Parts: sequence; C-alpha cells; structure tokens
Amino acid sequence: MAAKRSKSETLRYTTLKVRLYPSAEQAALFEKTFGCCRYIWNQMLADQQRFYIETDKFFIPTPAKYKAGAPFLKEVDNQALIQEHNKLGQAFRVFFKSPENFGYPKFKRKKDDRDSFTVCNHVMGNSETVYTTRDGLRMTKAGIVRAKFPRRPQGWWKLKRVTVDRTRSGKYYGYILYECPEKKPEVVVPTPETTVGLKYSMARFYVADTGETADPPHWLKQSQEKLARIQQRLNRMRPGSKNYQETVQKYRLLHEHIANQRRDFIHKESRRIANAWDAVCVRGDDMEQISRITNRGNALEAGFGMFRECLRYKLARQGKELLVVDRYFPSTRTCSACGRVMPEEISMKRRTWTCPQCGAVLKREANAARNIKDQGLAQYFSTRERRESA
Ligand SMILES: [Zn+2]
Repeated sequence: MAAKRSKSETLRYTTLKVRLYPSAEQAALFEKTFGCCRYIWNQMLADQQRFYIETDKFFIPTPAKYKAGAPFLKEVDNQALIQEHNKLGQAFRVFFKSPENFGYPKFKRKKDDRDSFTVCNHVMGNSETVYTTRDGLRMTKAGIVRAKFPRRPQGWWKLKRVTVDRTRSGKYYGYILYECPEKKPEVVVPTPETTVGLKYSMARFYVADTGETADPPHWLKQSQEKLARIQQRLNRMRPGSKNYQETVQKYRLLHEHIANQRRDFIHKESRRIANAWDAVCVRGDDMEQISRITNRGNALEAGFGMFRECLRYKLARQGKELLVVDRYFPSTRTCSACGRVMPEEISMKRRTWTCPQCGAVLKREANAARNIKDQGLAQYFSTRERRESA
C-alpha cells in the first residue's frame, strides 16, 4: 500500500462516473445488494445502540455475525457489507468529533435513502476483484456489467473502489474511484496582469474585473421553467393515477437533466478560467445563505459554491491558487480607483455609481470584482512574505 513516492510526485484521486447497463439478473442482484446494505446498516446500528446501553462501550458488530440469522446476506458481495460497516464506523467518528456538524447516524429507510453500495478493489498478485474492460465493469458476483465510459481511465491509474447507485428515475451509475500518481506541478506566482477577480452575480453567474461575464446559458433557465410547469401540473393531479406516475417520472428525468446541464456548465467554465489565468480571486460568500435570502430556488446559487471548488482543484493541478477573500470584505461599496469605502451598500438596482472622492464612474459588479482581485493578491503576497521570513 505505502508505495514509495518521490517528493516531486503527488497523489490525486479521480472519479469516473459511468452509466451502467446491467442485465435483468445483474439489476436484480444490485437491488438485492441495496436492500442487504440497508438491512445490515440498520442491524449494526441497532445492536451498537443496545450494546452501548448495556455495557457503556462503543462497539459495532461485523457483518459476518448476521449471516447465520439472515442467509440472504450471503447472496450479495460480502465487500459491500464490509463497506457498510466501515461507513457506519466513519459516521460515528465524525459524529463524536463534531456532533454539531454531523448528526447521530440514522436508520436507513427505503423511501428516503439513496439506493447504493460500495465495494473496494482487492488486489492479489495479478488478480483484482474490480476492473474495467473495454465496455464493461467487472465486479464480484455480478460479473461484467456493460458500461459506458465518458473517457478512458489511464493505464497507470489504480482502481480503488466503486460505488453503484440507482437514480430515482431508474438509471444505474458506477462511480469509480482511481488513485492517480502525478508529477507535482511547478508553483505559479501570479501577477496583477495574470490574475482575475470574480464577483458572484445573481443574473450573470459571475462578473470578472475585466467586465467579462459568464451568463448562465438560457437553456438552463428554460429547463428550470419547464420543471416549474410540470410541478404545477403535478399539484393539480390525483396522486396514484397512471397519468400522475408518468408525470412524476418526467419530472425526475428533467430534474436529472438540469443537474447534468448545470454540472457541465460549471466544469466547462471553471476549466476555461483555470487555464486562462494564473490565479483567481473570489469572495468566500456563504452560497447557501444567499440562496435562502434570494429565495430563487436552486437555480445557480448552489452552483457557485461548486464552481469555487472546481476552480480550486483545477488551479491546484497547475500549481496555481484560488485566493479567497473574507466574505465580509466590502467589495461592492469600495471604490477600486481610490480605495474610499462608502458607508452604505450600493443598491443592486444601480449598474454604475460615482465615487464622491475621486469622481470615478464605477460599474457596480466589475468594480467589486476588481476589489476582490486586489484584496486577494494583497493577501497572497503578505502570506508569502510571512512564509518566507518564517
Ligand atoms: Zn474613488
């Protein structure tokens, strides 16, 4: 496991999401595995609780203990059950560490919890329990499941584990985690010319200090409107009718479609920016909070948080940094020409404003992006100095 790595190498993990097309038998096995995983999780959790009450000690029984009483557990991949044991242990660890952030592990119910299971790849000599073929994914018990790969894994990647899940609309996906050793990138030192500042914008996703905007694609808005219409139709229908079921399925498919569109958009935008600039400055806004305040639903507010994370790792792979400015930094009401800070927030309705001190005419959002950029760079160089003098 602890392969020797030179200092110039770094470990990176990549997940490939592949669509799975199981045969009828394989799908039945998947369904059974989902059920067994839920069952074993609930059993272990219940026994842990009982054990704790009786002995005051923390202990989670292993899946093997349950097989005599529940022989159907033997029909599925034992690795999936072991993973449930690991996941439950992990759920308790994070709960004990910070109970305010992580709730006490809950019992799983078919109607609330996503159907999924995870198996690790066990490598023994030349044999592996999980591997990919040209158009399939080989798993224990299921055998080769037909799969469609968005791209091919590289030859030197190591397959670590795979999670199989089923969406609410009935599609199966495999999330294959790979360990990818890579050369550590050279550190890129940004300059004002090669750095961009981005201000989150409700209407335009972001506005850059250069004035450039991302303008969320209109099809995203169209899909969103269509989704709202289906939702309205559903509200008027009688639950349980055939028509209702069909509309529910339509709703789920469109919902998935929107999520995919949004993810594509975010990946494409973040890749473009990470390639074009040496550093990117953003403000660490709490996007969930913004989403609550604006109450515009799940359009793109939640997406901006993901966008920042995508930027962070896409930059890091090139030795670059995402510079995050404090979320209370008054980016909008500061004049980027002279630094004057206005006592009050500039109204969202105003596209431009004039600085009373220096007379500069400022575009509200681009000015904010400019301030975020200046602040981000200032932070970068002051921490760099501290690091060097230390
Ligand atoms: Zn000014």
